[in-house]
Amino acid sequence: MNLLNADLHCHSVVSDGTLEPEALARRAHANGVELWALTDHDEVDGQQRAAAAAQDLGLDYLSGCEISVSFAGVTVHIVGLGFDAGDAALRAGLAATRGGRDARAREMSEGLARVGIRNAFEGALKYAGNPALIARTHFARHLVDTGVCSDTNEVFRNYLTEGKPGYVPHRWAALGDAVRWITGAGGMAVIAHPGRYRFTPTEEYALFSEFVAHGGRGVEVVTGSHTSAEYAKYADMALEFDLLASRGSDFHSPGESHTDLGTLPDLPGQLTPVWSALQDRIQRA
Ligand code: AMP
Ligand code: MN
Ligand code: MN
Ligand code: MN
Repeated sequence: MNLLNADLHCHSVVSDGTLEPEALARRAHANGVELWALTDHDEVDGQQRAAAAAQDLGLDYLSGCEISVSFAGVTVHIVGLGFDAGDAALRAGLAATRGGRDARAREMSEGLARVGIRNAFEGALKYAGNPALIARTHFARHLVDTGVCSDTNEVFRNYLTEGKPGYVPHRWAALGDAVRWITGAGGMAVIAHPGRYRFTPTEEYALFSEFVAHGGRGVEVVTGSHTSAEYAKYADMALEFDLLASRGSDFHSPGESHTDLGTLPDLPGQLTPVWSALQDRIQRA
């Protein structure tokens, strides 16, 4: 079961990816993915299209999203899998989480204007497939295409991270709320790419403990954001906290993402995959 080519984390134009849900489905299928989920940030509007495209291709599908959460002053991402995408409480929670993005983006633009980069809000908006979901990624694409930086990593490093002119601190959803929106809609909550957060070991332990206490059940072990050392570290943490393990590329764009859909190593053999507990939630092709 661990050897299934599952890819349960990626983004479309509905959030900050550059491909339509149908193009992602084709790419996943062409790359050999056997179980797929589209996990746009704070939004489930692409779910029907993704599921329909997967069905046409003969690809098994799980509904997905990636919720932005603030925990101990740090932004943490919680992936939801296998929920009912029509659930009213989930949709209301996601809408509330998206709600602050427009004002945040305008403030980011003001910060950039102070260092001589004008009209960044209007520029970034042109890259946003969904105007309700303007992300730092869209600013990064705009600043690369206007020649301010040579790649998106450089934009994040110099302009969009803490202490830099385009960075605006933001309060996202509470951890317990995000987990409850997902589980209340019949899905499973999964800690996304834990290796990316700048936590002390104590804070990281608190994140895992509180996540489990709220009803969270999974953690991404093999993701495009982890090194092989982090695969081993989070495999141990999955066993320690009795969590199911997930696998996902976090693919955003052919030009930007270093990990393509379906190309990650298999989950370590001693782990139990999230899909073992989601069999009745899979939309079979
Ligand atoms: P936001 O939700 O608006 O804060 O944007 C976060 C998104 O920015 C993430 O989901 C990634 O897609 C992207 N991102 C974050 N850090 C980096 C980075 N260092 N380089 C490139 N993209 C990044
Ligand atoms: Mn993203
Ligand atoms: Mn993420
Ligand atoms: Mn992601």
